[in-house]
Amino acid sequence: MPVDAAEALLCWYVVDKRRLPWRAEAGEIADPYRVWLSEVMLQQTTVAAVKPYFERFTSRWPTVEALAAAEDGDLMSAWAGLGYYARARNLLACARAVATEHKSVFPDTEEGLRKLPGIGAYTAAAIAAIAFGKRAVVVDGNVERVISRLHALEEPLPASRPRIRELTDAMTPDQGAGDFAQAMMDLGATICTPRRPACGLCPVRRWCKAFAEGAPEHYPVKAPRAARPHRTGVAYWLEYDGDVLLVRRTAKGLLGGMLALPEAPPIETAWEKAGAVEHVFTHFSLTMTLMCARTGTRPEGIWHPASSIAEAGLPTLFAKLAARGLAWLEKDMAGGAVTGEKDETCASLL
Ligand code: SF4
Repeated sequence: MPVDAAEALLCWYVVDKRRLPWRAEAGEIADPYRVWLSEVMLQQTTVAAVKPYFERFTSRWPTVEALAAAEDGDLMSAWAGLGYYARARNLLACARAVATEHKSVFPDTEEGLRKLPGIGAYTAAAIAAIAFGKRAVVVDGNVERVISRLHALEEPLPASRPRIRELTDAMTPDQGAGDFAQAMMDLGATICTPRRPACGLCPVRRWCKAFAEGAPEHYPVKAPRAARPHRTGVAYWLEYDGDVLLVRRTAKGLLGGMLALPEAPPIETAWEKAGAVEHVFTHFSLTMTLMCARTGTRPEGIWHPASSIAEAGLPTLFAKLAARGLAWLEKDMAGGAVTGEKDETCASLL
């Protein structure tokens, strides 16, 4: 009979843990490369979205040395659609730092890991605990929710974070911190979900104050959010002999290093409006209008066949715009009128 919540959770985890491609099975040693890669991919992204990317990355680049030797453009294209593109740039910088400065061996302490590009407090703690068995306090969004409910914390997020960390620290066992961290994540992802938690199946129910109060969904209490600002922009689809003009964005800033449609007119011509796409980024929402034209001369630039534009590795916003551009082109070539004023909503986060 478990004597405390952590023990009950670990007993549940042994039986009910999620089978994930980056997880070591019982008796296996976790591969730090796979743990690191999965943790970076999972930042701000769901397990379901990450799985196919993880499989593709580990088949193509099975080790940190292989990833360190990847071409920047290849890696950015392989990452396309996963969002938050600064992570991809940091991924490559981190792989190269591990390959060149650490002889392709990841540091095994939180302190050492935090010195690497793109590894913050959470990721360092997760890798140290899961890959190296170190006692580390791992707090992600799932853990915040579970702890807030277990203790019925009335203080709203994000102000309650220091208290959540203290409470997680107090609950983390000295041995098996990696399993404990993954068990908390699994509990938050599968049972203690944001909406309608399955308290009837929960291994820590008897310690849970929110359950005792009968109001688990009241927690975590959240501070009111400031309204997200709205911006507008214009993208240009220029076609020459079946090809479309693309640009490589500068390395720094939004969608840095990614292929995209130009955001300034590449030539002077009669541009035709072909609708707009709505997109929601973390800190603002965007309405991007698409202007289209065909040209008989070919300016310098990166040209990609329009018919295979879906495979160009464009980030989601520009992939949506390109789909609209392709529809415009097909209608234009068929001699049809193009209106395309209906907005398309793409609410995925980049
Ligand atoms: Fe979450 Fe319910 Fe379990 Fe409490 S009892 S931790 S609210 S699932």
